[in-house]
Amino acid sequence: MGDKLTVRNPYSGEVVGFAPRNMVREVDEAIETAREGAAGMRATTLHDRRRMLTGAAGQLQEHRDELSVLLTREAGKTIRETRAEVDRAASIFDLAAAELVAPPGDVLALDALPNGAAMTGYCMREPRGIIGGITPWNVPLALAAHKIAPALAAGNSIVLKPAEQTPLSSLLLRDLLLNAGVPENGLLVITGLGEEAGDALVRHPNIAMLSFTGSREVGVRLPAAAGFKKVSLELGGNSPLVVTPSANLEATANAIVRGAFAVAGQLCISVQRVIAHRTILGDLLTMVSEVASKLVVGDPVSDTTDVGTLISREACDRIEKLVADLKSAGAQVVVGGKREAECIYLPTVLTSVEHGGRMLQQEAFGPVVMFLQYTQFDEAIAIANSTDYGLNAAIWTNNYEEAMRAARELQAGTVIVNESTTFRSDLMPYGGIKQSGMGREGVRFAIDEMSVMKTVCFGRPISSN
Ligand code: NAP
Repeated sequence: MGDKLTVRNPYSGEVVGFAPRNMVREVDEAIETAREGAAGMRATTLHDRRRMLTGAAGQLQEHRDELSVLLTREAGKTIRETRAEVDRAASIFDLAAAELVAPPGDVLALDALPNGAAMTGYCMREPRGIIGGITPWNVPLALAAHKIAPALAAGNSIVLKPAEQTPLSSLLLRDLLLNAGVPENGLLVITGLGEEAGDALVRHPNIAMLSFTGSREVGVRLPAAAGFKKVSLELGGNSPLVVTPSANLEATANAIVRGAFAVAGQLCISVQRVIAHRTILGDLLTMVSEVASKLVVGDPVSDTTDVGTLISREACDRIEKLVADLKSAGAQVVVGGKREAECIYLPTVLTSVEHGGRMLQQEAFGPVVMFLQYTQFDEAIAIANSTDYGLNAAIWTNNYEEAMRAARELQAGTVIVNESTTFRSDLMPYGGIKQSGMGREGVRFAIDEMSVMKTVCFGRPISSN
């Protein structure tokens, strides 16, 4: 690997580019620079920050083609997916700018208690200082935007470490943001390995808050390594989608295929487990199979491709093994179930998956959706909740009572009725419970987490003479 990272296109194997392999020293230097940046950002007005953020959105739109092609070459996502990701990242900067028009704050009725008769007060939000952001490779641009936009909006500086597979899009994003007027010491991107540059960022005492998105395996270890700083963790998932007899099966089938195979199933909120009532399971499987078998799989840069590559040969090996293990435990392949190229695995639908099996507990993170059946509604909820993850969960039903029960009883950060588990709006609070994480993203909520509340209490003016 040497002193640089080599970025390869997972579809063609060609070299896309190189990025520095930063070590502890470079991370320390970046954080020192970001210290001046934090003081500078703190002194900016909301108007200054709004100008930077709307300028960033404009830069992203102007460079949409360049960014989307780079993302497709780095991550193997289809060009339609990466164009949508650039638009999404631009809108995250726009949302952050909009939040600054009327930032929330409370006036306190201190005189409602006897000790505050002469007092009046209010709450205001102040920046934390330097935010450390760490991002994964599967949504490299939009998730970098979810760290950078709220950090700057709240008046912080930020040091971002992108994944080793996708550093180039974050480096280009930094350049575009500097064009938009973000100060050089307000945004620093360090590239390198998680266990080197990432670890140094996590442990550094001058980082006020760590905002991490990535796997559970890495994430659960970070609070102890980070020490005394605020930590937010957006980790993996194993999303369930319950289908009841009253659901519109055609719409459900389309949502399942959309949610299971977008980004080749490499989304934290991919539809992984479909829990269908036994009376509709057969029809639903037929419809899902029809839609899934029409998907065009292959060259991500082609406009007609629906499903691109997995991120690496190792990721494809892992999916091959997962499907083989599930088959030996009794699962049947309805569609797919086969590797097509070094990094391509066909969209795969499995049924007769053993409930309670170890494999069902894992995050598949590949183009594999597993069907299970239930008889009583209680059973559906119990199966859906039988995982250590709790990110998004969905139910398809036209029964009000079932929808309300699912909203109450599904253990998830977000419960979705009659849409795919992959539904996410960037303005809503988003995050997990159980081992899917702690803290909430979504622009307004991340601005809250990336700032601290200060309370100001005024007594009556007392003249000095
Ligand atoms: P990952 O292996 O956990 O890596 C995520 C980031 O952490 C990368 O930048 C990685 O650097 C870095 N890292 C690794 N070890 C580290 C350490 N010891 N200290 C500090 N940083 C370290 O995850 P991934 O494979 O990139 O992404 C896939 C995972 O992310 C899935 O589990 C997915 O569900 C999850 N995800 C969650 C959300 C959400 O919003 N909840 C969104 C997207 C993805 P290297 O690249 O150099 O290893």
